[in-house]
Amino acid sequence: MSSELVIVYHRQPYEEHVVDGKTVFKENKSPNGIVPTLKSFFGGVDHGAWVAWKLSDDPSNPDFERRVEIEDAYGKYAVSRLPLSEKQVSEFYHITSKEAFWPILHAFKERYNYDPVDWANFRDVNRRFAEAAAEEAAEGALVWVHDYNLWLVPGYLRQLRPDVRIAFFHHTPFPSADMFNVLPWRKEIVGSLLACDDVGFHIPRYAANFVSVARSLFDVDVTDRVRVREDWVSEGTALTERVVPSHVVTDEGHEVTISVTPVGVDTDFIDDRARSDATKERLDAIKEELGDETQMILSVGRTDYTKGGIEQLQSFERILQNNPELRGKVRLMHVSVSANTNMTAYEEVQNEIEQMAGHINGRFGRFDWQPVTLISRAIPFEELVAYYQSAHVCWITPLADGMNLVCKEFVASRIDGDGVLVLSEFAGAAVELGNAVITNPFSYRAMDQALLQALDMPEEERRYRMTGLRKAVLGNSVRNWGPGSLTVKRDLEPAA
Ligand code: UDP
Repeated sequence: MSSELVIVYHRQPYEEHVVDGKTVFKENKSPNGIVPTLKSFFGGVDHGAWVAWKLSDDPSNPDFERRVEIEDAYGKYAVSRLPLSEKQVSEFYHITSKEAFWPILHAFKERYNYDPVDWANFRDVNRRFAEAAAEEAAEGALVWVHDYNLWLVPGYLRQLRPDVRIAFFHHTPFPSADMFNVLPWRKEIVGSLLACDDVGFHIPRYAANFVSVARSLFDVDVTDRVRVREDWVSEGTALTERVVPSHVVTDEGHEVTISVTPVGVDTDFIDDRARSDATKERLDAIKEELGDETQMILSVGRTDYTKGGIEQLQSFERILQNNPELRGKVRLMHVSVSANTNMTAYEEVQNEIEQMAGHINGRFGRFDWQPVTLISRAIPFEELVAYYQSAHVCWITPLADGMNLVCKEFVASRIDGDGVLVLSEFAGAAVELGNAVITNPFSYRAMDQALLQALDMPEEERRYRMTGLRKAVLGNSVRNWGPGSLTVKRDLEPAA
């Protein structure tokens, strides 16, 4: 059965478990990630499809179940699964995407690793994703492709199916031409993206960067620009942009809409959790453990050099060294979740974070007070909400981050209207969240001052800032998000 909406995202939209020898599909553990958001769009169409990869010992095995039909709370949809061997996944995902693209997207030229890239394999995997999407799509369907590891899909798909509408969304930053053009495959990648009808980004800066990269490589005309909305212009901060190109036309006359649609969090869902009895119980327990005299600083993120975890711990050490009165009075809860990819770059960051946390605890800790609590496992979201609510300061200072949802979740959880957000000006979210204490993680002084300012902030200012933050976050729920200019209905209340 062909589908009006085809979502192309590299991961499958469920967790696959084997129970008593039978395969069962379960909802993903994280209830508020990108997967449920995307699945909610299936509720608005008669039939949808999802294209993803699935690990296979032998991709040529004829018994591999290539396609499954799912019926769950979100509706009926097919999942087209591309069998990839471990080697293909490693080359396509861990090497090309994570070692070559990821550092460039986040402006870490020195971490870029070109040598091991197998471009033929990357092309092949992307071509197969495009073929699978072409097979699923009905006449004139919307095909919505996600993220940089599928950059070449739109180009192949356009050749196979000129009739479909193609939207592409970038979940990462998009860098300037000086940075992006380090990639030797730049022309092929951008040529593919220009085959879309709509290319979407979180913030105006990434959209502007994309257009300038496209203009550096092709004869592309900007046919329309729009002024950035006032509440996204934060005077003097690093990612602020004032005017952004909204339409471009290629030399072949193909028009591409450039969309800016910052992803939000599911504010209704978080609000519901924030008000639940279970959360209240957890919150009380955390508060009791903290006591009245101790302020909790909360930092949550994946273990990745882009997230700035090491730089945070260095700042915390300087602060304890230079402000002895804070010893015994503040606790840093540092949640740094390992991505479990077996990649050396992430292992190194994890080791350094563990070493730094141990060093700080050894240097300043006492029997009755440990300055850093380090957690390397993922905390279930329900529990995280209680930590968000008990934190005096949520400290989110990535060196580069496409959006950052943790800081929005913190704000959405603060139904009490209190709490301070310290946010890096290099997180996409900083564009919407000008009421945070904005800081520059590349400056020791700015980092240390921002945390000290947050710890010392009078209640009136905390509440004033939090009101502004909540207005921004609650006004942009993920329930209003979509594929840019290409509309598609959705069902926001999946059947229980
Ligand atoms: N998260 C979680 N438990 C943890 C740490 C993180 O559930 O212990 C979730 C968090 O709630 C958020 C997501 O992981 O929804 C991280 O998203 P973000 O955009 O901040 O960062 P990304 O990892 O996508 O770069």
